[in-house]
Amino acid sequence: MRHSQTLIPTLKEVPNDAEIKSHQLLVRGGYIRQTASGVYSFLPLGQKVLKNVEKIVREEMEKAGAVEMLMPALQPSDLWKETGRWYNFGSELMRLNDRHEREFALGATHEEVITSLIRDEVKSYKRLPLSLYQIQTKFRDEKRPRFGLLRGREFVMKDAYTFHDSNESLDEAYDKMFQAYSNIFKRCGLNFRAVIADSGAMGGKDTHEFMVLSDIGEDIIAYSDSSDFAANIEMAPVLDNYQQSEEHMQAKELVDTPNYKSMEEVSQFLSLPLEKGIKSLLFKIDDQYVLVLARGDHEINDIKLKNIYNATNIELASEEETKEILGADVGSIGPIDVKNVDVIADYALKYMRNAYCGANQDDKHFVNVNPDKDFHVSDYHDVRFIQEGDISPDGNGTIQFAKGIEVGHVFKLGQFYAEKLGASYLDEQGKQQTMTMGCYGIGISRTLAAIVEQYHDDNGITWPASITPYQAHIVTINIKNEEQNSVSEQLYKQLQGQGISVLYDDRKERPGVKFADSDLIGLPVRLTVGKRANEGYVECKIRATGEQFDIHVSEVNEKIASILK
Ligand code: ATP
Ligand code: MG
Repeated sequence: MRHSQTLIPTLKEVPNDAEIKSHQLLVRGGYIRQTASGVYSFLPLGQKVLKNVEKIVREEMEKAGAVEMLMPALQPSDLWKETGRWYNFGSELMRLNDRHEREFALGATHEEVITSLIRDEVKSYKRLPLSLYQIQTKFRDEKRPRFGLLRGREFVMKDAYTFHDSNESLDEAYDKMFQAYSNIFKRCGLNFRAVIADSGAMGGKDTHEFMVLSDIGEDIIAYSDSSDFAANIEMAPVLDNYQQSEEHMQAKELVDTPNYKSMEEVSQFLSLPLEKGIKSLLFKIDDQYVLVLARGDHEINDIKLKNIYNATNIELASEEETKEILGADVGSIGPIDVKNVDVIADYALKYMRNAYCGANQDDKHFVNVNPDKDFHVSDYHDVRFIQEGDISPDGNGTIQFAKGIEVGHVFKLGQFYAEKLGASYLDEQGKQQTMTMGCYGIGISRTLAAIVEQYHDDNGITWPASITPYQAHIVTINIKNEEQNSVSEQLYKQLQGQGISVLYDDRKERPGVKFADSDLIGLPVRLTVGKRANEGYVECKIRATGEQFDIHVSEVNEKIASILK
């Protein structure tokens, strides 16, 4: 492609609203332009890289046995009402009316459309399993669209859906998709982890998120330093594996803690370490109050509490409720002599001796408190967040934290949608059965941005060979120089003839401008045609490493092929 014939509007300045590198570089490199908040145009270079990601996704989907189709973005509200999501998806769902005042949504996801389609078209077990996917524009009215392509309101997603007559069949499809996702993100050159995720309210079970490791990620991943264990921090289990304190149990004693409220303040005032403290928090779990205990240096994880109680709602009791139920301010509550509420504790408490805790009297604590001797615990559970340095839940290695960008999500949906929408089939005995489903998403445009987050330097993007919009960049120093011009033209044809894709900077610009643009755009190999054109030599520069050398035109093809490998 000749630069003079395409549209690559590069910018010297960093756009004001672009906080992160991928957003800055994709705008500056002339890949994308914002049309409205969270809504982007993909310019010719942007479209090329997007297509390259899609190509990898398509190849791996087909390999996993999924078949491509295309569903409408415009979806009637009736379908969303059947699953109830018209009411509980919230304002993220873009809604509109047609000229007859009929309600529609712009597809944020396609469970409703595909399940109703399969309900109508598939009636027998003989047609199952079925695995279908599409690559399509999705709409979500995100509260905070930001970070360019990472969180848009209109974005490109690959979504796949599988339909089954048994859980075993779903498990098999899930494993295949999981493998396909690993292949996809590997081929995109990404450093990523598949992490155990929360299945949330939709009643599914297994679910994994694929996270690209990055400091700008919004999720925290807990991973083992010596195995492949990785989980979203909310989900990582903590092993019941603590050292039993050997201290001799002493008699509990009431002490004054005037105005010292937080664990840290009390610990300092009593000159006792945080890990000798018992943290007590009163929760309201659905309609029940529960006093939850953890060690002072640990944080209580309410998602775990929610799962223990199989609850829909969980929140901290208010200050007023706490005072009414336990008779003291939030900073002075504890488990001793508590009668009217359930008390549960983290496993770590079983191993504590001579601890301190709130006394359920304002400004007072107990010291030398011993669980099970001084107070009753109805159940011990894993209720805390995992921490860096904890033993990995699989027993191998220690836990470290990293931040991640969620680029993909695989999910065993179970029968939620099939039940709501009545997707059933006749089994071998002619009995009506509900289908079992899985769903699998990849943010294609988000993946593109995640690649740039991992592939850039101070001067611009450094595309991996699998994604780059063109493989080589020809830069002619002086287009008016006869010799340079003809060598450039010859090189352009020669490379294209060998199937190497080329961007040819044939503009009448100063060399400095062309070099800066070339670094910014970030193609893997640059061939500069300059002074030595008359000898048939050009300068070859490898973008990612900065390595630079002269090479004869006759050897260029072979060299590029080896670099791109
Ligand atoms: P997030 O927690 O980041 O909002 P999500 O859990 O809502 O993501 P899914 O509903 O699982 O996302 O959608 C599948 C994939 O689509 C995600 O893994 C992500 O890569 C992508 N995605 C979701 N929301 C956006 C968005 N606003 N902009 C770009 N990509 C998105
Ligand atoms: Mg979301």
